[in-house]
Amino acid sequence: MALSPAAGRLSAHEIADEPYYRAVGDEVEIFAASYACRLPVMLKGPTGCGKTRFVEHMAWRLGRPLVTVAAHEDLTAADLAGRFLLAPEGTVWHDGPLTTAVREGAICYLDEIVEARQDTTVVIHPLTDARRALPLEKKGELVAAHPDFQLTISYNPGYQSAVKDLKESTKQRFVAIEFDYPEPSVEAEIVAREAGAEPELARSLVEVGLRSRNLRGRGLAEGASTRMLIHAAKLVGGGAALDAAIRAAIVLPITDEPDMREALGAAIAATL
Ligand code: ADP
Repeated sequence: MALSPAAGRLSAHEIADEPYYRAVGDEVEIFAASYACRLPVMLKGPTGCGKTRFVEHMAWRLGRPLVTVAAHEDLTAADLAGRFLLAPEGTVWHDGPLTTAVREGAICYLDEIVEARQDTTVVIHPLTDARRALPLEKKGELVAAHPDFQLTISYNPGYQSAVKDLKESTKQRFVAIEFDYPEPSVEAEIVAREAGAEPELARSLVEVGLRSRNLRGRGLAEGASTRMLIHAAKLVGGGAALDAAIRAAIVLPITDEPDMREALGAAIAATL
């Protein structure tokens, strides 16, 4: 069977090899059950704790292509849905990534959706209820979602303020799965695997992560994420000394405050 142009376009999003994901609870079962009835899902949790990797893993497991959009404060509804663009033959409609996913039956992952403008989030409403449709107002088209389409968003409750939060009417449309940094032995397993590091190094770095997370709310917005611990382990693997790797991968990126850097450095030095 010949591939339609759309299928060709989406094949770039197909995940061929299993993305490594270490389950920490019942998240795989809850997501699979949500997908089975096409319920939209919200992944809640701090940055760098495995949400993106999880959705990649689930798309692979469910055999669906994945379309990921990282939201930012200038993200408009047109960036998601599409727009007319000037071409030599006149104006031509270009589907946005959300529309592509809706038409072709992909899982669409909107990362940090709360960063987008509020009028942008409203675009997803008709997709998250019984209508399962995306209105393209500029084009005068109502796109019925492909039966396999599903919407997943991520949301970091730690960052939210009253002015920047998902509307109640948006939140209540989603099944939520909570993520947090895994327990130390599991996190060490992940760090070792992802960085190709010795178990002992991974365990030390997880201890560093725990110390930094204890400073959360006491001058630090967030502690070191699993991602940061992996970066530090990789630097060591690349030849950096452990303390220099921790400074470069964790302490410097996480805070600009000299006092906080000192406090973090002292908390970490106590673990080494
Ligand atoms: P988030 O989307 O929550 O910001 P990511 O999914 O990008 O975070 O996770 C950051 C990195 O941490 C991943 O690239 C992966 O290397 C690692 N990671 C975190 N949690 C897990 C997990 N449970 N299984 C496998 N890898 C993980």
